[in-house]
Parts: sequence; structure tokens; C-alpha cells
Amino acid sequence: MKALKNQGRTGGRHEQEAQGSRKRCAIITFGCQMNEYDSTTMASLLAGEYDLTEDPADAHLIIVNTCSIREKAEHKLYSLVGRFRRLKERRPGLRIAVCGCVAQQEKERLFQRMPHIDMVFGPQGLYRLPQMLARLEAGQERVMAAELDEGFSIPAVPRSPLGLEPARAYVTIMQGCDNFCTYCIVPYVRGREVSRPAGDILDEIGQLVDMGIKDVTLLGQNVNSYGRKGGAGTDFAGLLSMIDRQYPGIRLRFTTSHPRDLSVEVMECFERLDTLCEHLHLPVQAGSDRVLKRMNRHYSRREYLEKVELLRKIRPDIVLTTDLIVGFPGEEEEDFRQTLTLLDRVRFAQAFAFKYSPRPGTAAARFEDQLPEDVKGRRLSALLAMQEAIGLECYRALEGTVQELLVERVHPHQEGMVQARTRGNHVVNLQGGPELVGRIVHAEIYQACNHSLKGRLCAEYPDGNHSGIGDDPLARGSSNEDHTDVCTCDNT
Ligand code: SF4
Repeated sequence: MKALKNQGRTGGRHEQEAQGSRKRCAIITFGCQMNEYDSTTMASLLAGEYDLTEDPADAHLIIVNTCSIREKAEHKLYSLVGRFRRLKERRPGLRIAVCGCVAQQEKERLFQRMPHIDMVFGPQGLYRLPQMLARLEAGQERVMAAELDEGFSIPAVPRSPLGLEPARAYVTIMQGCDNFCTYCIVPYVRGREVSRPAGDILDEIGQLVDMGIKDVTLLGQNVNSYGRKGGAGTDFAGLLSMIDRQYPGIRLRFTTSHPRDLSVEVMECFERLDTLCEHLHLPVQAGSDRVLKRMNRHYSRREYLEKVELLRKIRPDIVLTTDLIVGFPGEEEEDFRQTLTLLDRVRFAQAFAFKYSPRPGTAAARFEDQLPEDVKGRRLSALLAMQEAIGLECYRALEGTVQELLVERVHPHQEGMVQARTRGNHVVNLQGGPELVGRIVHAEIYQACNHSLKGRLCAEYPDGNHSGIGDDPLARGSSNEDHTDVCTCDNT
């Protein structure tokens, strides 16, 4: 769960109060990057009238953007929105909206369960947010926009700096999904697959670049099928090439890739395009053909491994990460063993693994051979232990190397530290201050931890050459003003 922040890109509360006319909106986001992107789109739609606040008690409008991928997120949503009833009793003018996947699924039931909600809308409905608010202002008691339109096209919304992180941003290139994996609710709540025109995507990236964004992640449920239905003007490899040509200074990433649709042309982009970072998230979900078939994934273990092999031939330093579901209905010990052997063979730098949880309305929720929780729990622990060791080994391989990093933010918990990201998507903690945020730097990695790395900035000597690896002047106790010998190669 995340509250969208102003990130210092707009005036603060006192400045807004001095202006007198701006209201405040709290946007709380559950779930995936797609939801995070949708929340920034809503912030952009509201930017003419509202500013953001992280404190719901301070807001005129609270929007909860929900996720129904896992049961836990759904429970959290009900308890959170339930707590807002008190706020509404104290301030009847407060507007409360629930949107996203749970809203799309539950529709009217949300109003019945929590009568203090004013608006319910799904992922397609969010683009009508200003009009829905106007209807409430005009006296309508409740507003709902949770129908799925087969002919939906994604409107172009000019990006506002509101809610943007300092250095990186998401850009959606498509919405919905036609795949119907048997465990997944997405096709039912986000509708059929629709791709945005390439021109709209290029325009949006241009707006972000003008705001100082240097790392752009293209989003879609299945980016590899971008443009398949026409109307986009190109396919996914074509889109990546267009972005690379037009914005050569950025770092480009994408997610999510369906292994079946990952083409050789897209794989070759990792070799051909300088902007495309050498990281691919390629969800495998399971290592056994029997389970993959029941999941309706349309690829076999062999086909997945062949694609990994080809990718590594094309781009030997590519960093691979994945998603896994443990304890899918009917998964036998042998199936699970095959998932472990696949992990052992591919050696992902990171794997996001979850116990299967049945989502109402999906095919797998109706399968009769559901596994007991203790079996799922035991398998998940075994898988995580194995992955932890593999991940650490991948991270340790970076010790002693020099990496190009984009500094993304001041460390949220450690004073005097910043967080940066390698091109391979590893998080690196470094000593440094806010002046580094948004800059491309080089650092030596000196320690691997389980899910992150520790680095020190490289020193640059008066002749202008990198020493390669240098002492960290911050570690020597210099003040920020003294960093004449810190190499912070700003590539932009
Ligand atoms: S590809 Fe499968 S898992 Fe991914 S969004 Fe579509 S149905 Fe869900």
C-alpha cells in the first residue's frame, strides 16, 4: 500500500492555502505498477484543482486504488476504507472513491457494504474522474463507472508532475489481457487487450523527459503482444526502436512479458538498442508442463528454457527475474521439484513467489484439487530458501564491479544515504545526499546483501580519468561541499 506523494514537485500545503483555491487529494494505491501508473494518471487528471497529500485526514478527496490479485490486499482495502467512515462523519464534504480491480469486480456491492463511499469506478472508468466529481458537486448522491467497454481506447492524458518520482516513471502502452491464465482475474477486471497508438506513447515519454525523468518503464499485462490487434502503428520491437531513436538519453525498461509472445526481434533489441536496460522480468509461474498446461500458459518448460538460452546468447549480461506460483491446484511433489530444478538451471537474480490463492470468478478457483495451506506453505519456504541462495550468489558476482547507477531517491530510512539502481535493476545503497538524486553516477559495488547492494561512488582524479575504483570520500568523512573528487558522470 502506497500513498502518492508530491515529491516536492509542487508547492506545499501553505503555498496552496495562500493561493486559496486548491483542494487536497489523498491517493492510496494497492497492487502492481499498473495501479501505480493509474494513480499518477488520476493525479494528472485532478492537477487543475487538487494537490496531493499523504494524509487522508487532511484531504478533501480520498481515492483508494485497489488490487484483487491476492486476497490479502482485498482484506486490507476493506479495513482501510472502513476507517474512513469516522473521517466522513466529522467532515461530510469529504469525498471517498474506491477504484481499480476490486471496484470493477464488486461494483454496487461496495456501496452496500460501505455506504460512506461516494464513487466506485474501474480501470477504464478512471479517465472520467473529473466528470464524476462534477456530478457529485451537482448533487448526485453516488457515482459509478464500472462497466467494461469492448471498444475502449486509452485516452491521452497530459502528464502532470504531481505524484511523479524524481527520476523514474511508468508509461502504460496497453491495457487488459486476452490470455485468461486460469488463476488470474485481470482479463475480467481490466477487459480485453487494447494497445495505445505509438504516437501517444512517444508524446508522453517526451513530457516525462522534459520533467527530468531518466528511467522509463513501459507497462502492459503482456507487452510482447503490443500492436497485435492493430491501431498501434507498429509491433513491440518497433515501438522499442522508435523510443530508442527519439529519446537516446533515457534508460528504457518494460514489464510484463509473456514468455510465449517474447519474439526474437524483441530479444535482439537487448543487443541493438543502447537505451534498453539489460534486465528482463519473464514470469515462468511453474516449472512443470502439467501445471503450466492447467494454468493455460501456452508454453512448455522446454520452450521457456530455450528462450532463456537464446536471450543469454544475444545479451550474455542480461539479468533475469521471474514470478512463481507455489501450490497451484493439483501440484504434486514431482511438479514442485521441477519448479526447483528450473530455478536451479536459470538462476534468476530475483523471483517473486507466492502461494496460490483462489480468486473468485477464475477457472482455477473452481478446480477441485486445491492444496492444503500447510503444503503450500512448506513448498513456498523451500523455494524461497533456494532462491535466496541463488539471488545472493547473483548479487555477489557484482562485488568489485563498477556499475552505472541512476540515483532515484534519498534513502527513506538511513540518514546520509541514497538509493540508486543499476541498469540490471539491482537496488544499490550509497552514501550521499539529495543533490545526487536524478543523476547518473558510477559506483563500485563492495557488498552484496540479500535484496540489494552496497556501493561507493567512484573517484575521479584531476586528469579527468576515472581511477576505476576509488575511496568513498564520504566514508572518509568529507562534507558534501568537499566532493571535488567524486565522479558523478551525468550522462544527460
Ligand atoms: S497473461 Fe495471464 S497472468 Fe498475465 S494478466 Fe493476462 S491472464 Fe493474467
